[in-house]
Amino acid sequence: VSVRALGARRIVTCDPARGALGVVEDGVLVVDGARIAYVGPRSQAPQVEAFVDFGTRVITPGLIDAHTHACWLGSRHAEYAIRMAGGDYRAVARAGGGILATHRAVASAREEDLAAALAARLGRMATLGVTTVEVKSGYGLEAAHEKKQLAAIARAAGHRDVPAVVPTFLALHALPDSARAHRAAYVDRVAGELVPEVARERLARFVDAYVDAEAFTIEEARAVGNAARAAGLGLRLHVGQFADIGGAELAASLGAVTADHLEHVSPGGIEALATARVAAVLLPMASVSLRQPPPPVAALRAAGVPLIVASDANPGTAPTESLPLAMAFAVHAYGLTPEEALLGATRNAAHGLGLGDRGLLREGARADVVVWDLPHEQAIVQPWGVAKTHTVIIGGREIAAGASVSTGN
Ligand SMILES: [Zn+2]
Repeated sequence: VSVRALGARRIVTCDPARGALGVVEDGVLVVDGARIAYVGPRSQAPQVEAFVDFGTRVITPGLIDAHTHACWLGSRHAEYAIRMAGGDYRAVARAGGGILATHRAVASAREEDLAAALAARLGRMATLGVTTVEVKSGYGLEAAHEKKQLAAIARAAGHRDVPAVVPTFLALHALPDSARAHRAAYVDRVAGELVPEVARERLARFVDAYVDAEAFTIEEARAVGNAARAAGLGLRLHVGQFADIGGAELAASLGAVTADHLEHVSPGGIEALATARVAAVLLPMASVSLRQPPPPVAALRAAGVPLIVASDANPGTAPTESLPLAMAFAVHAYGLTPEEALLGATRNAAHGLGLGDRGLLREGARADVVVWDLPHEQAIVQPWGVAKTHTVIIGGREIAAGASVSTGN
């Protein structure tokens, strides 16, 4: 059936035209093919033969995870045990663990094995209500392996029952051993050759760089950011995770779409983000796992910086695939309201990925819809860590796994 109607006592549209969360009580949502044809009160809904009444189950837009490193192989459980016993992450990284450990696993893997691991992970994310996922490269580090990783991301995106995928070329993540003695040449090659190549071959929509005291400098990231702009790619930056070296100001000056992490950012940096309309991507799973204090959320909010919540899914510092879990910790550890967490994982996340057709339920939008096995959208963030979807619709298509996880409330 290509035209279907879903009824529920509470439809949370996240449409600003209807107010903050845009709640429609006793509503109906009509899906026609891959698009939403109607959302509004039941009394005004068009008559559709295929109608399912979900009763007290709440309906929201599909969730959007705007920051993940989900394309990886291997396991870093041993490093986690060391960190939890008091080991320092940067000491682990300097000893060849951290990003470089995953780099070794990814560099030695075949593209199809990377793609299979990612596709399985994406499928699990879909059952959690996630309908669009940004996936970064950044574990290949050398040109051939970065391109292999981006090819694996494209391949996984073609699987059934997975969210829509937005690929990002994480151009500067860590310096591979092979480049230790040639740091400047490595950055030159990434900015001068690899970024244009990735754009030409349409392997990514965004470019990213890790700007921090023990990662890459402002000048190195600026070279890559300028290359991204020249190649017509969008820019997002990891800034201020461990130290504030001016990454927020750089993101603002380069016209980045998002500045991600921001555990360390100055009032001037926040002002720069607000003025340049750069959104903040909050990654609570990372700071919780690293036992760091949260970013200055109240100051970001007061400055009017749009807040996005993402999982940061990666094998080390954010060991989860669950955006709902990140939303729960955005509320618990960062002091977001449940409403801010939901908007940060729907409408604001869509905006931060340049996707105007999703993140909200309204006529003409992409039919990315979640029927939750929950009585209210606030229940997405409490209790924690359980799959609570009843039905997940991605681009108008109901995923197979969604229906099998119904458990009651
Ligand atoms: Zn990240």
